Amino acid sequence: MTDQVRVRFAPSPTGFLHIGGVRTALYNWLYARQHGGKIILRIEDTDLERSTDEAVEWILDGMRWLHLDWDDGPYRQTDRFDLYQQDIDRLITENKAYRCYCTPGELEVMRKEALAKGRPTKYNGRCRNLEDGARDGDHTIRFKAPQTGQIVVDDMIRGSVMFDETQMDDLIIRRSDGSPTYNLTVVVDDALMGITHVIRGEDHLSNTPRQIQLYEALGYEVPRFGHMSLILGPDREKLSKRHGAAAVSEFMEMGYLQEAMINYLVRLGWSHEEQEIFTVEQILEHWSLDEQKKSAAIFDHDKLNWVNAQWMKKLPPEEIAYRLAPFLEKRELVQKTPDREWLTKMVLTLRERSTTLVVMAQKAEFYFRELEYDPEPAEKFLTADVAPLMDKVYEFLAGQENYSQEALHESIKAFLETEGLKLKAIAQPLRIALTYRKDSPGLFEVMEVLGKESTLARIDKARKWIRDQ
Ligand code: GLU
Repeated sequence: MTDQVRVRFAPSPTGFLHIGGVRTALYNWLYARQHGGKIILRIEDTDLERSTDEAVEWILDGMRWLHLDWDDGPYRQTDRFDLYQQDIDRLITENKAYRCYCTPGELEVMRKEALAKGRPTKYNGRCRNLEDGARDGDHTIRFKAPQTGQIVVDDMIRGSVMFDETQMDDLIIRRSDGSPTYNLTVVVDDALMGITHVIRGEDHLSNTPRQIQLYEALGYEVPRFGHMSLILGPDREKLSKRHGAAAVSEFMEMGYLQEAMINYLVRLGWSHEEQEIFTVEQILEHWSLDEQKKSAAIFDHDKLNWVNAQWMKKLPPEEIAYRLAPFLEKRELVQKTPDREWLTKMVLTLRERSTTLVVMAQKAEFYFRELEYDPEPAEKFLTADVAPLMDKVYEFLAGQENYSQEALHESIKAFLETEGLKLKAIAQPLRIALTYRKDSPGLFEVMEVLGKESTLARIDKARKWIRDQ
């Protein structure tokens, strides 16, 4: 074995890909890429009842969306049952595991007795030293856990954590239906896949001493471990749907940018000077797993929105236009491939005011279709007294050919000056006429994006609307 770093992301495909899982994937990915190592993707699908192919797709989609590529896999544990069985057999042969015939009912009685006597509720070891053939029938396989010493986990994030073996159970490593259990499969896989660093959520910390016992019993080299804090909601409960989006697919659908997600997730529990916005290259340069905070990370949607808004402005507008297109399609704003150059121009008018692609698509609506005027500003600004002014502006604009915002700005200013008027007098009515709302991008930008024909048509419509009042 070389001393190359090998890490893995090992999700269970039992539901949507939780943002906490993505963070685990991200940290492993960063660790591999920083150390010139490899990252392996392993689907832990031994829970046959809860695992689905759809959930595997969600995992792959989420990773692809975030550009978290992997070097090996995806492996599926259900393809590897023979390997687990070999090691289970080996443990039995070496008298490090045994058949346990205790039924669930018997185990329950045992548990209650222990509780009544104030003893730990772990398995009492009844089948530990059964003679071969003393019983038969349905059985599980239990690991004969060493029970006398201490196990110290030298955690890359949490430092040294000690566990007392006397507290540890004879773990079931194979269920009575023949399927291997998590702690066994994870150890066999991590060992056979040459994993050097196991980086995962803190919820697995209590499994680690059990797994270390198994590594030792199987004669495998123990990897290093790093347990990341969990992501909590503002109420300090594990982040879930209750707190808003928690699945990576939801963030995708809500129009967050993958750069912003990565940026935000890496900043949860890690900082570098005062910097907030990081490209992946900058993260790879500065980030370090052992600088990761031990305390829980609180998910803050407002902060994510802020980070996303920064990235909406930071990415090239052509790129935003490209990513916006599916969101426009969803709102049925563009049926066919839209003109990229035009879309880019449009993006430039909206990106300062859009936190996500969804918000941008929503704000873009007026460019694509006629809307009802927002009643309140329409009543206030589209009044009979501005009608003559609207007529003049219409005539003037009808005579213009250059609709670039700079040219319009100059020419309209000059025109208003000769008329002895101020832009203020006409700005709001024009804004309502062109965008149907009082909150919009700059007037000249809007005119450039709409182009001459639509600009004139909309002003004309507003003139008619005024007359009809
Ligand atoms: N499959 C486990 C989970 O999704 C992770 C196992 C591990 O990282 O050791 O929680």
